[in-house]
Amino acid sequence: MAKKGKKKKNLFLLADILLAVILIVVGVIIINPFKSDNKAKDKEEVKGTDENQNEGKDKEIVKEKTEEEIKLEKLNNINEKLDFFKMENLDRYIAYKEKNPNLDDETVVVYVNIGLDQEFYTNRKDSPFKDTNKVITNKFYFLGENYVPKDLVKISSANSARELYLQKDAAEAFERMANDAKKEGYTIRAVSTYRSYSYQQGLYNNYVNQDGKAAADTYSARAGYSEHQTGLAADIDNANLSYTSFGLSKEFNWMQENCYKYGFILRYTKANEFITGYKDEPWHYRYVGVEIATYIKEHPMTYEEYFVRFLDK
Ligand SMILES: [Zn+2]
Repeated sequence: MAKKGKKKKNLFLLADILLAVILIVVGVIIINPFKSDNKAKDKEEVKGTDENQNEGKDKEIVKEKTEEEIKLEKLNNINEKLDFFKMENLDRYIAYKEKNPNLDDETVVVYVNIGLDQEFYTNRKDSPFKDTNKVITNKFYFLGENYVPKDLVKISSANSARELYLQKDAAEAFERMANDAKKEGYTIRAVSTYRSYSYQQGLYNNYVNQDGKAAADTYSARAGYSEHQTGLAADIDNANLSYTSFGLSKEFNWMQENCYKYGFILRYTKANEFITGYKDEPWHYRYVGVEIATYIKEHPMTYEEYFVRFLDK
């Protein structure tokens, strides 16, 4: 009996264990989905947080881009087309375009790169490409008080009004040009070529005393800003009319047709006064070399525009 009782007790114990096992299994089954749900929820939350962070980042990037993009859109994203577009000038481009709504965007970029949005002589930079045919000097680019070109060569008396000098390449080209013109019955004579800083200073000061500074600035360079100081510029006449009337001579027409073949360009024209800052000078020619002179002959533009488009990068 006692044995039977013990057996029964064991049986109960077994049932208890079984029940416990069932409960655990059921519990695990019931609880697990919650657990996995929670995990999923957690994941979602994490995901959500990530997304929020990403969204925040995206928004920031979009915001950054937008400010610049809005500015670039004002210029019709011309930066993608022009390799001489300068991002550091972006605000100046927009301001210049607002002041000059009739200009196309490319012209705005060219003019601002030249410096035309600023007053002449207010933003002085050093002339680049000194001692080469590419040098630029104007009311923005300064040659310096001590600059003297290398290889100054005397022009033959046959082709000059007095003792005058040009940089070697320019002098040789000038002699060939004048000699070829002579063969065709035209007289091309140098009347003023290389001028030193101090000579230009005296010249400019005389003009200022004579006409006042504002007027002098329309026809004379300040010392250090004259093309004559480069040794690459020549004022010419036909040995008959005054050089200031050179534009009326048949020699002027010959020069219009032929000077590029020798590497010279007419530097200051009436149409380009607002770019160069100088009145029309039919007598003033600048040696830039045959390649550049030919390009400018085929695509008429000032040397300022050429410089900005091809050399100022
Ligand atoms: Zn001149």
